[in-house]
Amino acid sequence: MIEKIKCPYCGHEQSIQADKNAVCRGLWVRCKARHCGRVFEIILPKKK
Ligand SMILES: [Zn+2]
Repeated sequence: MIEKIKCPYCGHEQSIQADKNAVCRGLWVRCKARHCGRVFEIILPKKK
């Protein structure tokens, strides 16, 4: 299962996808939406 990363500000889907078991912290991306462009941290907590 693949999880799409969305911007927390505008909800725009980014060109980044994460595996269901992926764990991530400290990774920052700029939103690809033209009207947004904000930088946000991708946080994927460890799932059980
Ligand atoms: Zn955005």
